[in-house]
Amino acid sequence: MLILRKIAEVRQWVQEKKKQGLRVGLVPTMGYLHEGHLSLVRAARQENDLVVMSIFVNPLQFGPREDFATYPRDLARDADLAERAGVDMIFAPEGEEMYPYYPQDTTVQVARLAEGLCGVSRPGHFTGVATVVTKLFMIVLPERAYFGQKDYQQFLVIKRMAADLNMPIEVRMVPIKREADGLAMSSRNTYLSAEERRQAVCLVAALRLCKERFEQGENNSERLIKAMTARINREPAAQIDYIKICDADTLEEMSRIDRPVVVALAVYIGKTRLIDNMLLNTDVMKNV
Ligand code: AMP
Repeated sequence: MLILRKIAEVRQWVQEKKKQGLRVGLVPTMGYLHEGHLSLVRAARQENDLVVMSIFVNPLQFGPREDFATYPRDLARDADLAERAGVDMIFAPEGEEMYPYYPQDTTVQVARLAEGLCGVSRPGHFTGVATVVTKLFMIVLPERAYFGQKDYQQFLVIKRMAADLNMPIEVRMVPIKREADGLAMSSRNTYLSAEERRQAVCLVAALRLCKERFEQGENNSERLIKAMTARINREPAAQIDYIKICDADTLEEMSRIDRPVVVALAVYIGKTRLIDNMLLNTDVMKNV
């Protein structure tokens, strides 16, 4: 497995592979890999001849009071995990390689889809994501790119961006990987103390409660959100950022579940902000 740090090297490598008729799948990450990331690699391996993983902690998607400086980084560990999962090449640029001028003048902004949910408490976040993903797409020129359902709003934003800007890249979503107790895997879980880790299971517990009530016939969003709120508020370290029930395609808030929806939440456990979600009223994903 190759590790490349320069854009020019990546372009040359990709060009050679494409001349041989090989198709490339891209898995963009910020590193500190876990099974969630590796499930994207496995999906990419199934549909492409080569898998490229980018590892880049993108400063443009972090707010001024967020965890850019402390975000966990360990390239040696990541390289080992990526190689064993079948990655052919890691692109791990330095900040100056990706942003010779920072902040750069040109950004990619996706209206509407990026505005609600995490867009409220993280203004500019999705512009940072859409901008860096556009740069990665232009550098790697993959046939397909893989994103986790864990960041469902991000997946929709990228899919819309690719469609709106006629990018010839298929944007794929891969289901959420969870720990044995149901907590969605995340590099940020490493921030949690043992006691916080125990309490963090309240996110998936609330989603499962919502699903159970919905299957019993409750489709009123307000009542479902009230039940989820009560479940999360049982944990002393938990502070809810948002709990929303939204149209699964447009992210428009729904007062009633009468179509496919995403139930999405963001909760602080101590100082760590965690997100999770579940698709309901759709047969597409039954993975919670
Ligand atoms: P990150 O490194 O956190 O930016 O994540 C890189 C990619 O991995 C994104 O597309 C995430 O949605 C995806 N991802 C992160 N956690 C999970 C998970 N638990 N299950 C599936 N995909 C995940």
